[in-house]
Order: sequence, then C-alpha cells, then structure tokens
Amino acid sequence: MRIFTHPLQAAHRPRDEFHNGGLTPYADVPERLALMRAALGGIETPPDAGMAPILAVHDAAYCQALQDVPHLWCAAGRPGDAIPYAFPVARRRALSLSRVDALLGAHAMDTVTPLTVDSWAAAYWSSQSALAATAAVVGGDRSAFALSRPPGHHAGRDYCGGYCHLNHAAVAAQAARDAGVARVAILDIDYHHGNGTQDIFWERGDVFYASIHADPATDFPFYWGHADEVGADGGAGATLNLPLPHGTTLDAFRAAQATALDAIARFGPGLLVVSFGADTWEGDPISRFALTTPSYTTLAAEIAGCGWPTVIVMEGGYAVEALGHNVASFLAGF
Ligand SMILES: [Zn+2]
Repeated sequence: MRIFTHPLQAAHRPRDEFHNGGLTPYADVPERLALMRAALGGIETPPDAGMAPILAVHDAAYCQALQDVPHLWCAAGRPGDAIPYAFPVARRRALSLSRVDALLGAHAMDTVTPLTVDSWAAAYWSSQSALAATAAVVGGDRSAFALSRPPGHHAGRDYCGGYCHLNHAAVAAQAARDAGVARVAILDIDYHHGNGTQDIFWERGDVFYASIHADPATDFPFYWGHADEVGADGGAGATLNLPLPHGTTLDAFRAAQATALDAIARFGPGLLVVSFGADTWEGDPISRFALTTPSYTTLAAEIAGCGWPTVIVMEGGYAVEALGHNVASFLAGF
C-alpha cells in the first residue's frame, strides 16, 4: 500500500489549547507524525496538486484567513498562538472585519485549535497527502494511506476546530467525484464525530457519510453526531450517525461498523474514504473507548472485505507511544 506524507506537516506546533477551563498542552503534537512514520516506512512525499481541489471543498476567504491570522496576531503584538474568544453563533454571515480576533472567531468553532505561522503549510500538505492517496486509488490501486496531520474531519467549509483546519477526507471524496467516481462513501471511525465532513456533505446525495463515534451527549463536538442527524434535501438519508457509550469494546464497535458497512453497500459507492482515528484505543489520554491494538486489524479486514477501492485518511489518536503500532495494525488488515 502506498503511503503519503510531507515533512512540512510536522511544522505546526502550537503550545497550548484552551480546554476544560484552562490552558493545557496541545494534544496533536508533531511527534505523532514521527512515530507513525517510524512504524510504517516506505513513505512517499505527495506531489503538489495546488489549491483547486482544496477550493472545491473550502471557502477561499477562509483559506486566506488561515494564512493571514497568525501574521496579524504577531503584528498586533500578541504573545503565543492565535486563539479566538468571540464567535458569531447567531446569524453568521460574511463580514469584512479587520481585527484579528473577529477574523479568527468568524472562522473557528472552538478554542482548542490555535493557529501558528506554520499551521497553513501543515494543513495544506495534509490535504495534498490525501489527494495523492486518492489519485493512486482512482488510478487503480486497491487502497492507499494518507498520513495526514493535523487531522481534518472537524473542519467545515469555512471554519476550523478540533485540531482541524482543512478537511482532508472531504477533499479526497470531492477529488474522487471530480475524477469521475459517481458515488463516494466516507466511513469515519475516529473516536469523535466528524462534524465538518457531515456539514460539508449534509445536502449532498452523491457522498454518503457514516460515522461511529463517542456519544456527543458526553463528548466533543457535542452539537453534532446525534443519531437523528440524517442529512437534508438532496442528502436526506445520506448521513448515518452511530454514537456509542464510554467503554465500548471491539464487539460493540464491530456491530456498529457492520451496520455502517451495510448502509454503505446499499448506497453502492465506487470509492470509499475511511477517516481513521486511533483515539478509540484503550489507552488514549482524551478518549474513553476500549479497543486494543489487534482490534484495528479486525476492523480493517472487515472494511477491506467489502471490496471497495479505499482511501484511508489519518485523523486523531493521542496516545503517542502506541500510535505507530495502532496505525500499523489497521493497515495490516488491508
Ligand atoms: Zn478524534
């Protein structure tokens, strides 16, 4: 299986996130990438497919803001990384606001996603890794893996959140559509609901989104991922949410995944994108599921057994020492 990642993905190194009432060390550390690289080997650098496939999913002004905000923050004499504190939750609309806090808050959903001058390059190349993996699979490979970091599934068309800036799985799915694949499915098995991916394809009937995740009644991102969210308009019925409780083990997760795979089979995709997070692992410091390292081989083999050409995109996983082993276990199932 071909694996793609770019060295600049490691440059994004925020110091803290504002979380649970205080500043805590940022969980998406670049060492995640180094340990995954070390466990996998044979990794390729993606070519630069440019902005067009990113702008097929993301708003141009938002992409510009991701690049401008860290410099405006520094120019304003602010210490530390750029973190927003005000959010337009009511009647959100495009406004031409120059103050950095307004610009940032208009494009963010939380305070756990600080921006640095290196964030854009890391996110950009993570999307390029996903695009390279998609090109490999569209070109005939059975599967390919984008070792993306920072992750992507919490990012929407014009907002960042949950450590995510660009939605690499959505960029991959859209690129497959634009390459002529009529129907694309996304299976999201990160611990957290992929609210950004759901939002991007909410009204689309050509991209099916299925997610297995911690119940948003107890876990981030709280407002999305509830079982009654099924899409709307042309996308009604093309979103499937399967929330699970704390302590979920392999058997319950497998049952949920079987439900998701059955729904995807009925949809009949020409290509599958898997948003894979290893934060479902029993020792993850910010999560409460109880999958083991061998669990991932089992889950992956059941996905691979469906036979769809598959692009795997890395999402979360914060037990840094175990991360390489968990990712290698998942890829072994393919
Ligand atoms: Zn996650």
